[in-house]
Amino acid sequence: MWKQNRSVSTYVIGAIDICLWDINGKITGQPIHRLLGTCKQSVPAYSSTAFHETKEEYAEEALHFKELGWRAHKIHPHGDPKYDIEISAAVRAAVGEDMELMLDSMWAYRYDEAMRVGRAIEELGFYWYEDPLVEEDIYNYVKLHQKLDIPIMSTEYAPGRLYGMTSWITQYATDILRGDVAVTGGITPLIRLAHLAEGFNMQCEIHHGGNSLNNVANLHVTMAVPNCEFYEVFPCTGANRYGLVEDIEVDSAGLVHAPTKPGLGFEIDWGLVQHEKTATIE
Ligand SMILES: [Mg+2]
Repeated sequence: MWKQNRSVSTYVIGAIDICLWDINGKITGQPIHRLLGTCKQSVPAYSSTAFHETKEEYAEEALHFKELGWRAHKIHPHGDPKYDIEISAAVRAAVGEDMELMLDSMWAYRYDEAMRVGRAIEELGFYWYEDPLVEEDIYNYVKLHQKLDIPIMSTEYAPGRLYGMTSWITQYATDILRGDVAVTGGITPLIRLAHLAEGFNMQCEIHHGGNSLNNVANLHVTMAVPNCEFYEVFPCTGANRYGLVEDIEVDSAGLVHAPTKPGLGFEIDWGLVQHEKTATIE
């Protein structure tokens, strides 16, 4: 199905691929992660911020999740290098040293800005530095990667998806690979992407899936690869939770657990679908 990306989105290809894995799991009576090769039963979740006007609000939100028992927190800042450093410092000051912090700059900077922010969050002991530059700029990623010590994570929307990863690896442009079932085009290419990273002893941190059912599919892949450390919850306000009878829950230790039922193992709320229906296309 991959070649269809020339005319349809990877979101569509991914939805069909996930559906086929769900059917396969239901036929065999196994959760999808077991078909892929389960290698763990839980991972820590990280809270991934929405946009906030002030650094104080960012700090408050991080503290809220720390108090709930979550172990890691990721900031989506303003995209203004100077204020992004201030936000990062304010969040670190609020949560102290014993919560992992990440910064996702969402492709905001030029090279010189990315260097400045990278150096600052290195000093603040951040865990990774995500998407400082656009994915079209491998040239400057290579330079950035040579100079910074903090792990760089890119490739969330890298051109070519799975097939684009080889350039990032062979050019030493990133430390951590990234993908998810929607953007990468399903469970099949995502598991291959994670295994490709594993072959180079690299991590592959799985991005949130944009909706509840995609997040479930991501969770199955996460449980079946040794090199994805975290589960992303975005946005933490709950707007991403929709359409399932029960959703993935983070426990009081900040962990999410491997699904136990056959297939995806989570039920679509068909009553809600019926209720929200506006038209039927035939
Ligand atoms: Mg991101």
